[in-house]
Amino acid sequence: MWCGHQGGCPLHDSRPHVVILGAGYAGFAVARGLGGAPVRATLVNPFPYHYFTTLLHEPIARPRARERISIPLAPYLPPNVRLWLGRAVAIDPEEPAVEVEELVTATRRRAAADYLVVAVGSEPLYFGIPGLEERALAIRDLASGPLIRAHVEHRLARFAAGEERAGARRIVIGGGGYTGVEVAAELAETREDLARAAGLVPSAVEIYLIEAAPTLLPGFDPRLVEYATAFLERAGIRVITGTAIREVTPDRVILADGRKIEAGTVIWTGGVRAHRLVERSGLEVDRRGRALVQRDLTARGY
Ligand SMILES: Cc1cc2nc3c(=O)[nH]c(=O)nc-3n(C[C@H](O)[C@H](O)[C@H](O)COP(=O)(O)OP(=O)(O)OC[C@H]3O[C@@H](n4cnc5c(N)ncnc54)[C@H](O)[C@@H]3O)c2cc1C
Repeated sequence: MWCGHQGGCPLHDSRPHVVILGAGYAGFAVARGLGGAPVRATLVNPFPYHYFTTLLHEPIARPRARERISIPLAPYLPPNVRLWLGRAVAIDPEEPAVEVEELVTATRRRAAADYLVVAVGSEPLYFGIPGLEERALAIRDLASGPLIRAHVEHRLARFAAGEERAGARRIVIGGGGYTGVEVAAELAETREDLARAAGLVPSAVEIYLIEAAPTLLPGFDPRLVEYATAFLERAGIRVITGTAIREVTPDRVILADGRKIEAGTVIWTGGVRAHRLVERSGLEVDRRGRALVQRDLTARGY
């Protein structure tokens, strides 16, 4: 039996043990919902805070938004839920049990559970496009926005110092769904600041948004698509639709229609799949690695 990182091993505790993996919207809601229930629970998360995944693009334009889009977990957890800072690295759905790499010590420990809640979210899906996974930045967690901004600032500074070619001042966003549109809007908003900091004129910072489907925001209401496209174009974003990214090389993005765009920063917002942990656990999954579940959300076969 595992006792939790805060000590006080409840060997005498006969309450069922619920282990929740991930403190995103789903995992955090489960943890809070268990308050007062006749169980003890352990919430496993790599960070001591819950971040608002839908707002992770905001710190690109406003680095200080980082504090506004996250809240500490501990004060919001009920007394019967412990926080275990670490990353789940393996799931054994048969036991059920989970192996966790602890944040502080990097050691791996195993925890047995009576109920296991898998809520580890998603990761980028690269569709096997050559060079994309190695060379593109993506929105993953709270560090992503500041990292993207720092990357752009670095490339612009090097271009301004004459150390890089013209392509270094170009940003290509691959994927024009809602995440890509939001990232493009953030970059448009901060373009003037970025340019000024590097001693460039705003028009020197070129931002491309590439979408394989015939329009941005595939599947959304056509009026919204039209509005968002016009808004971005007015803000100076170069929107290219109807052609996919075929390859990303160290200094350019090659499109399926043959166009080549020299770029200093490539950001991938073109798709997500379920966290690989789910597939590796042996649970039945679909093409995007999402667990197949029954009506009550229990994994198929369990
Ligand atoms: C920029 C952006 C904008 C979006 N906008 C919208 C929108 O407007 N509307 C909408 O409906 N959806 C939107 N989405 C999608 C939405 O964010 C997701 O559907 C939602 O976050 C899924 O919630 P979740 O709790 O399943 O996973 P997540 O919110 O991804 O949370 C997963 C949690 O698991 C943790 N974790 C990861 N790996 C491990 C591990 N190995 N062990 C333990 N914990 C782990 C993470 O740190 C995180 O806390 C957006 C996504 C992005 C990126």
